[in-house]
Amino acid sequence: MVNKVEKELRKLEDELHNSRKNEILLGDLLKYSSQPFGVGYPDGSLGIVNKAFEELTGYTQEELKSSDWSDTLTPPEFHDMEHEKLEKLQRIGQPVKYEKEYIRKDGIRVPIELLVHLVRNEDGSPKFYYSFITDITERKEREMLSDALNKLNSYINSILDYDEIMQLIVEEGAKAIGAESSVINLIERDNWVVKFVYNFPNNIIGQKKTDQESPTSVYVANEKKAVAFNDAPNDSRVNKNGMKLHGVASVLVAPIILKDEFKGIIAFYHHQKSVVFSEAQIDFATKLASSLSQAVENAQLFDEIKNSEEKYHSLYSSMNEGVALHELIYNNHQEPVDYIIIDINPAYERIIGLKRNEVVGMKASEIYGTGTPPYMELYAPVAEKGKSKEFETYFEPMAKHFHISVISPGKGKFATIFEDITERKTSEENLQKTLKRFYIILSNMKASVLLVTEDSRVEFVNQAFCDYFGLKESPIELVNINQSKMIEKIKYSYQNPEEEIKRIKEIIDDWKLVLAEEVLMWDGKSALRDFIPLFVEGERYGRLWLHFDITKRKKMEEELIRSQDNLRELVDKLEVSNRELEQFAYVASHDLQEPLRMVASFTQLLEKRYKGKLDEDADEYIGFIVEGAHRMKDLIDDLLVFSRFNTQANEFELFDMDTALNSVLSYLQPYMNENHAQITYDPLPSIMGDSSQIQQVLQNLLTNAIKFHGDEPPKIHISAEESGDEWTFGVSDNGIGIDSEHQEQIFEVFKRLHTREEYEGTGIGLSICKKIVERHGGRIWVESKPGKGSTFYFTIPLAL
Ligand code: ADP
Repeated sequence: MVNKVEKELRKLEDELHNSRKNEILLGDLLKYSSQPFGVGYPDGSLGIVNKAFEELTGYTQEELKSSDWSDTLTPPEFHDMEHEKLEKLQRIGQPVKYEKEYIRKDGIRVPIELLVHLVRNEDGSPKFYYSFITDITERKEREMLSDALNKLNSYINSILDYDEIMQLIVEEGAKAIGAESSVINLIERDNWVVKFVYNFPNNIIGQKKTDQESPTSVYVANEKKAVAFNDAPNDSRVNKNGMKLHGVASVLVAPIILKDEFKGIIAFYHHQKSVVFSEAQIDFATKLASSLSQAVENAQLFDEIKNSEEKYHSLYSSMNEGVALHELIYNNHQEPVDYIIIDINPAYERIIGLKRNEVVGMKASEIYGTGTPPYMELYAPVAEKGKSKEFETYFEPMAKHFHISVISPGKGKFATIFEDITERKTSEENLQKTLKRFYIILSNMKASVLLVTEDSRVEFVNQAFCDYFGLKESPIELVNINQSKMIEKIKYSYQNPEEEIKRIKEIIDDWKLVLAEEVLMWDGKSALRDFIPLFVEGERYGRLWLHFDITKRKKMEEELIRSQDNLRELVDKLEVSNRELEQFAYVASHDLQEPLRMVASFTQLLEKRYKGKLDEDADEYIGFIVEGAHRMKDLIDDLLVFSRFNTQANEFELFDMDTALNSVLSYLQPYMNENHAQITYDPLPSIMGDSSQIQQVLQNLLTNAIKFHGDEPPKIHISAEESGDEWTFGVSDNGIGIDSEHQEQIFEVFKRLHTREEYEGTGIGLSICKKIVERHGGRIWVESKPGKGSTFYFTIPLAL
C-alpha cells in the first residue's frame, strides 16, 4: 500500500512542482489514505495532517497547530537524531527513513517509522517536508519478543542449573510479554504441579491439580499451541473458580511439548484488567514453550549427569584409598619415559603426605624422590593397552607397603588406586617373626612337644620329644606321619604300654583336656603329661601333647622333704637344749643365791667386827669381797630374769601402753628424782602382748636412758607412731650416745661398753628387751650419735 501511495505521491510531487496551487488537491487525496501523513515547514510550523495521523496521535490538526506540535509529539531524546536526518535530507535531497516514537494524547508512546521527503523552492531552498508515517508497534513488539526469545535461548544454553533456567524463563517471559505474572506447571505422576512462579498474587508453588481441575492446561495441550484467553472470567474453557480465586483477567497459555509428549504449560496472566494478547505474543509464548521443553530436557539430563558426577566425585574424595590420575610422557621415539600427575584425591594427600598443589602437574620422577618414575614398567602397559593390574609393593622412599590397582580411562592415561597396607604387612611380618620365635622356643624346649592335627597328622614335634621317647628319626622326618603310627612308635616307652594306649585313645576320642597327669616310664622315670585340645577361630584344630620329665623334680621334692624333716629335728633338739640351758641357768643362779647370800652376810659381819682391827690390807681385801658379792648378786638376779623369760611368759592380751608406762614410771620415780630426769611421752595406744614383759622393756630402756646421761640432767621422750601394720615406739634420751660400730652388739647378752666403775650394770638388759620384742613379733634397734643422745626403737604389730 505504501508503494502505491508513494507512486501517487511522486506524481503529486511533480504536480506540486508545477502548480503551487494544488495543495487542496493534495489534501483531498491524502485525507482518505489510511496511512498517517503530514506536512511540515522549514520554520517548524505544521502543514496539513490526515485523518489517519489524527487517529495515530489522538490529537486533532487544530490542537496540534495551536501548540509546538513537534515538541508535543516527539519525545526529547529523538530531537537530535531527527535534526540530523533532516539536515541530511536537505543536503542530499534523497528521502530519509527513520524510527522514533510519538507521544499520543493519552500519554502512550507509539513506535513509528517516518519516510520524509523534501520539496524545494526554485532557488533550491527547502519549501516543505511531507512524511508518511507507519505505526510499527507490532513490528517493534515482534522484534522485542524475538530478542527476548534469543536471550532466553542463550540462557538456556549457558546456564546449566535447571531451577535457575526455569525461574529465569518464567520471569523474563512475563516481562517480555508485559504480563503481570506467570507460572510453569509440569506434569508429575499425572498431576499438574505448579513448579515455578513469577509475581503470582498467591503462593501456589507446589500445588497439584488433576486434569479436571486444569481444563485450560488440557485444552492447550490438545491444541498443541499457545492459546490466549483474553476474557478469562467469561471463557467456558477456563476453570472459573481458579480465575476468580487468583483474580485473573486474561491468560495466555502455551503447552510444553517434548517429543510429542506433554510436559506441562507456561502461562502468563493479567490481573488488573483484561488485555488482548497480540499474535506476536501468542507466537512468542509458543516458541518460548518449545525452547522450554528443550531446556527441561537438557536440564534434566544435565541434572542426571551432575548427580552421577557428584556421586562419583564425592566417592572419589571420600574414598579411603588414594587415587591419582596420570598421563604418560613420551620421548621422541614414542616411548613412555615419565608420567604427569593430573589429579589426586584427599586420601592421596593423607597417605602420601603431599599437598594437591605440590603434585598436580608435576612429573612422577620429580616428586617421589626416586629420580625415575616409580613402577613405570607396570603402569605404562596399562595406560597403553588398557588392561588393569594390581599389585602389592614395598615403596622404599616412604618405607611403606602399598596395594596398588592400576586402571586406564583412556590411551596414555592411567589411574592408580592405592592403599597403605604397611600396618597389615608389618603385623603380618611380626606374626611371622613371632611364629618363628615360637617355633624356635618349642623346638628347643626341654619339655617334649607333639602337635597332632584334627585329621591325625603330626604337624610338629620337637627334639626333646624324640629324645624322651628314644626315637631315631629327626623331628623333620616325623612331620606328617599319622597319629596312630606315632603312638605305635612311643608306646613302649611307657611302663604299661597296653594300659596307656587305652588311656590315650580314650583321651583322643573324647577330645579331652588332660593336665598334669602323672605317668610312669619304662625306665622308672616319672613324667607329667598334658593333652591340650587346640581350637583355631572356634574350630577344632588339633591336639598338643606335652611330656615333662619330673624325675629330677621328684627327687628334689623328696630331698626337700628329707631336709625339712632334718630341720624339724634340729629345731626340736635346739628347743630341748635351750630349755636345758635355761634350766641350767635358773638352777645355777637360783642355787648360787644361797651360798652367795652366805658369803655376803659373813663378809659384812667380818667387815663390821674386824674393820680397823686387822691391818690395812685386810680391810681392803674385805672391801673387795663385799664388792664382789654385790656384783655377783646383780649378775645372778639378771641371769634369773633372763632364764625365766620363757617360763614366766604370759598369754598375750590387749592392754593400755599408757597404764604399763605409768606403773614403770612410778617404780622408777626415786631413780628419776635422784638423777633429775624429765620424762615426756606421746599419747600411747593399746597393744596386744604380754603386759609385764613390755613393762620390762620400758623399764630397761628408761633405766638405761637415765643411767647413760651426759653432763645435762636426762631428758627423755617416749614416742609412738603407727606405720603400716605395726606400732613403732621410741625412747630417746640426751645422754652419751653409742658409736655406730657398737650399735648392734649391745643387744647381745653381757655386752657392755663400759666398766662397772663408770656405769653400773650387767649387760643383760638390752638382750632381754630384744628377746621380748622378738617374742611379740617386733624388732628393736638403736639410732644414736655419741655425745648427742640415743633413741631406742621397737615395733609391736598392730592389735587387730
Ligand atoms: P647394762 O645397762 O646393764 O650395761 P644393757 O644391755 O642394758 O646392759 O646395755 C648394754 C650397753 O649398751 C650398756 O653397757 C651401754 O654401754 C649401752 N647402752 C645401753 N643403753 C644406752 C643409752 N641409753 N645410752 C648410751 N649407751 C647405752
